[in-house]
Amino acid sequence: MTTRSGHIYSIDGVLCPCGDGTYASNLFGGVCSLCIRVTHPHLIKCRPTVPNSLLEEWVEERTVSSEDKVFKLLVRIVDGTHSTISTSQRVSFVTTLLRQFRDRRLGITSEQAAQLLSNLNNPDRFSHIIPPHIVDRWNMDRYLHTMVGFCYYENPRPVSFPPPEPHLYSHIE
Ligand SMILES: [Zn+2]
Repeated sequence: MTTRSGHIYSIDGVLCPCGDGTYASNLFGGVCSLCIRVTHPHLIKCRPTVPNSLLEEWVEERTVSSEDKVFKLLVRIVDGTHSTISTSQRVSFVTTLLRQFRDRRLGITSEQAAQLLSNLNNPDRFSHIIPPHIVDRWNMDRYLHTMVGFCYYENPRPVSFPPPEPHLYSHIE
C-alpha cells in the first residue's frame, strides 16, 4: 500500500495474530501497530536520546499553545457537538487551521492530538488529518490515539535530535 507520503507499507492482507482484526505489517515486525509494543519494544524506542529539558524546550518551541485562540477554535470545530456544519465541512476547516499552524512552522503535541481525537464518537475522518501534525511522536503511546494515528504516523524508528519536523518523517527514512 502506498501512502500519500510515498512510503510503501507492505500489508498483504495478513491479519495480526492478536485477533483484533487489525492488519500486520512488516514495518511492525509482522504484527499490528499496537502489538509491536509488546513483541518488539526495541523498534519503538523512537524518543531522541537527549535530556528531557532539552527535548521539552524543543517541543514547546515548535507546538502551538493550548491557549492560542486558533487552537481553541480547532478544539471546538473538531468536537462539533453543537455544530450545524457537516463532517466534511469540519474536516476541511480543521485541515485549513492545521495548515495555518504549519505555515508558522508549528505543530501540535501528542497530548493535544489525543485531546482533539478523544471527544469524537467516530474519529476516522480526523485520524488522517490530526496525527500528521504531531511534533513529539515518541509520546504517542502515552496518550489515547486512534489506530490509524498509530499505524501511519507513529514512527517506529530511533529519532535523531533535533527530530524531523512533522510531514518530513517520510523523507528521512
Ligand atoms: Zn495485534
